[in-house]
Amino acid sequence: MKYISTRGSSEVSAISSAQAIVDGLAPDGGLYVPESIPQIKPEQIEAMGEMSYAERAVLVFNEFLTDFTQAELVYCTESAYNVVNFDTDSITSIAELFDGTYILELWHGPTCAFKDMALQILPFLLTTSMKKTEGRENVVILVATSGDTGKAALEGFSNVPGTEIIVFYPVDGVSQMQKRQMITQEGVNVGVCAVDGNFDDCQTAVKEIFTDPVISKKLEKSGKTFSSANSINWGRLVPQIVYYISAYATLVKNGKIKTSEKVNICVPTGNFGNILAAFYAKQMGLPVNKLVCASNTNNILTDFINTGIYDRNREFYTTLSPSMDILISSNLERLLYHLSDAEHVRQWFKSLSETGRYEVTPEVKALIAETFVAGCCNDEETKAEIRRVFEKYSYTLDTHTAVASKVYSDYAEKTGDKTPVIIASTASPYKFGGSVIEALTGKPFEGDEFGSAAELRTLTHTEIPKTLADLAGKPIRFKDVSPKDKISDYVTKTLSI
Ligand SMILES: *Cc1c(COP(=O)(O)O)cnc(C)c1O
Repeated sequence: MKYISTRGSSEVSAISSAQAIVDGLAPDGGLYVPESIPQIKPEQIEAMGEMSYAERAVLVFNEFLTDFTQAELVYCTESAYNVVNFDTDSITSIAELFDGTYILELWHGPTCAFKDMALQILPFLLTTSMKKTEGRENVVILVATSGDTGKAALEGFSNVPGTEIIVFYPVDGVSQMQKRQMITQEGVNVGVCAVDGNFDDCQTAVKEIFTDPVISKKLEKSGKTFSSANSINWGRLVPQIVYYISAYATLVKNGKIKTSEKVNICVPTGNFGNILAAFYAKQMGLPVNKLVCASNTNNILTDFINTGIYDRNREFYTTLSPSMDILISSNLERLLYHLSDAEHVRQWFKSLSETGRYEVTPEVKALIAETFVAGCCNDEETKAEIRRVFEKYSYTLDTHTAVASKVYSDYAEKTGDKTPVIIASTASPYKFGGSVIEALTGKPFEGDEFGSAAELRTLTHTEIPKTLADLAGKPIRFKDVSPKDKISDYVTKTLSI
């Protein structure tokens, strides 16, 4: 399997998956995509029912990472998906809210958000890839985060030999718990810096550093190269395909759905990575009816899917679901490539960078509508949904998963669609404890992140994840705040280049 750029410039040749993982972004500014989509057979999905999560992952990786040996895949998957890193044997967990509605909990890893599913394995995929590609010995990971990616990447890369990691987060754009998780990060190879701006400012600045020839030269002189752990990296996406297929296999095994029965998948969306992985799973042959894209008040994707017009000339809102506060959904580029071609993608993204807007063709809009449905909800509706679900089903949703739950129940009510649904649950409610308490009690919560954890435990009779409880004893290591146009200085200083 070879990988090509979504922008398809002639100077970008097809490369191996290892090279795509090391490079992160294609040299023409596009994203790497597989040349074709491999197929998974119904028998393979059924056989998965008897496998461990790591074995299920090998089965999927075999199709995409064809330049990895079997031994390498086993090493990577077993190093990541084990009970030291995850608090459940099954790695992910499925809660049945009510008949045919399944919450796929993707937050049983060390940072209590779904990003662990990819970022626990990425360091192994990356260091293995580095060994397989020539001349790459030391890699510097730059991450722009709206909260969860940063901590998950820090946790994944901390003290991994041959790697350094620097994380930037919007100073007022992450939850108290997320901030605490990042500023207390341990490890000799980590840097964390707050940015006076929003997530898109962080992401844009990181992209510029990647392509800055002066910084690249300096870095090269010190024997290092940049790579990305953001969800644009193929090594982030491919592990996310696994859990959709895995969840389906588990539902079949438990007799909840029949082999080949279709399911809907609903995903709370920001950068479009998680839902894109579900799209790949569908293209591989997983029986999926609709993919439901759920957004908060930053509903640029809802508008896009419904109108074919992507327009980021709009107000940016800080919401109760901060990991979805995004106006540039990078991974959408991959979907557009698969539904059209590199020439169109180039045209649209040129238009996006020049005017902040593009409009896809009616054909592409129709192709999107065949698979995707989109909806959004605001903070008040999010809180009401947390309360409704808790009162009705005694299940506690975090703010992001609540957006998905609300959008899905609106969709099901409006259309009468009775297809079983897998709702991706992307964070533990303890990560956004203050907001969840406010939703449950109707009163704002005034305390700090540890106070909210204790309170939420009392309210919901659930356990505080150990990794969050342990943060209380850890010293604060990172206090820097950078203006958004100065983050390259933080990078050169931290790396001493
Ligand atoms: C990152 C994140 C999302 C959005 O995922 P994308 O892949 O960016 O669409 C949703 N919820 C939580 C909790 C997240 O951390």
